[in-house]
Amino acid sequence: MPDRAPQPVDRQLPTEEARDLIALVRDIAEREIAPRAAEEEEAGHFPREVFRLLSESGLLGLPYASEYGGGDQPYEVYLQVLEELASARLTVGLGVSVHSLACHALAGYGTKEQRAEHLPAMLGGGLLGAYCLSEPASGSDAASLRTKAVRDGDDWVITGTKAWITHGGVSDFCTVLARTGGEGARGITAFLVPGDAPGLTAALPEKKMGMKGSPTAQLHFDGVRIPDSRRIGDEGQGFAIALSALDSGRLGIAACAVGVAQAALDAAVGYATDRKQFGRPIADFQGLRFMLADMATRIEAGRALYLAAARLRDAGRPFSRQAAMAKLFCTDAAMSVTTDAVQVLGGYGYTQDFPVERYMREAKVLQIVEGTNQIQRMVIARHLAGPETR
Ligand SMILES: Cc1cc2nc3c(=O)[nH]c(=O)nc-3n(C[C@H](O)[C@H](O)[C@H](O)COP(=O)(O)OP(=O)(O)OC[C@H]3O[C@@H](n4cnc5c(N)ncnc54)[C@H](O)[C@@H]3O)c2cc1C
Repeated sequence: MPDRAPQPVDRQLPTEEARDLIALVRDIAEREIAPRAAEEEEAGHFPREVFRLLSESGLLGLPYASEYGGGDQPYEVYLQVLEELASARLTVGLGVSVHSLACHALAGYGTKEQRAEHLPAMLGGGLLGAYCLSEPASGSDAASLRTKAVRDGDDWVITGTKAWITHGGVSDFCTVLARTGGEGARGITAFLVPGDAPGLTAALPEKKMGMKGSPTAQLHFDGVRIPDSRRIGDEGQGFAIALSALDSGRLGIAACAVGVAQAALDAAVGYATDRKQFGRPIADFQGLRFMLADMATRIEAGRALYLAAARLRDAGRPFSRQAAMAKLFCTDAAMSVTTDAVQVLGGYGYTQDFPVERYMREAKVLQIVEGTNQIQRMVIARHLAGPETR
């Protein structure tokens, strides 16, 4: 019998250092992440210790400057690290992506003093971040957010509720978008809020369909007082900062989606070559062979698309349209590949004895977060046809 154990993805990496990084991530994933994934997801356990290990290993600040404790890695390398982590467990891959998103505002728009004061602990000091944009009444229409920050001397006082916050209740710092001016996008400012700030409390985590190990919770800001030195960027610049973070964050979601899809394909191929019906491995039947071929093709296409967008970003070129396309395509591909993987396993695919039902539940959320796939289409169409006329 030929050996059908899944082969690691043959990655195109730009440097020896990047190859070493991927080897390190595979080792951590194999030893510390994958073996506990199914059980801990079922129990809703958040693997905080894994994030500490990733931080100690230099994997929580990869795309940021080494001057501030980051890894100086291009996005094409960072995203492939995310893909590997998400293949082992989405809660970890997506968690690293959200942490990176939470660091984006300060790294990109903070003053030199702010970066020197906060970034080393955020990027390599074991801290974990949350990104607080969504609210109960403002999701896709994020610019209508209502959480207020009111100036009081040298301080700001923040009041309101953020919703759906990944790492809500477990994060050490939160990048918060709050209204400091009038209606609309121009009235929003970004702040860096400590996770243990007085007046900041987390609700019980949402009971989700998947990614149960990743806490998603409302955060209540009840007169949270922070100094003006924690305001990021100019007053009124917050929404532009939030959107620029999301352009990069969407590439992270795309890479995570490809990771989940790859894990589902590996499980499906392994099962199909082993399981026999009608006296032959089911992988002999053309109906399944074509399904596996289509799954593999979608994954390769998704990987190529997110890497093309990442390389534009690394070259300092505009990449917003390509990031939206990568997020849209890769997450739709992950939904379709994981659904097909359940089909390949037949009845067993529908049970928790195999991981593919979990992959299918996890893929669904990727079509929703960081801009639903309807919103991605709006972004792409605006690049093609300009803003809507109404
Ligand atoms: C597990 C999880 C983790 C999350 N983590 C975070 C986080 O860390 N930080 C954060 O800020 N947010 C987070 N979110 C929130 C997420 O970004 C929002 O759920 C998402 O932006 C959609 O907002 P909504 O849920 O309010 O849906 P709505 O905006 O109410 O949309 C409902 C439906 O209407 C569609 N729709 C809305 N407007 C349009 C339009 N103009 N054209 C076509 N269709 C439209 C949407 O596509 C969707 O299908 C998370 C969500 C989940 C589920």
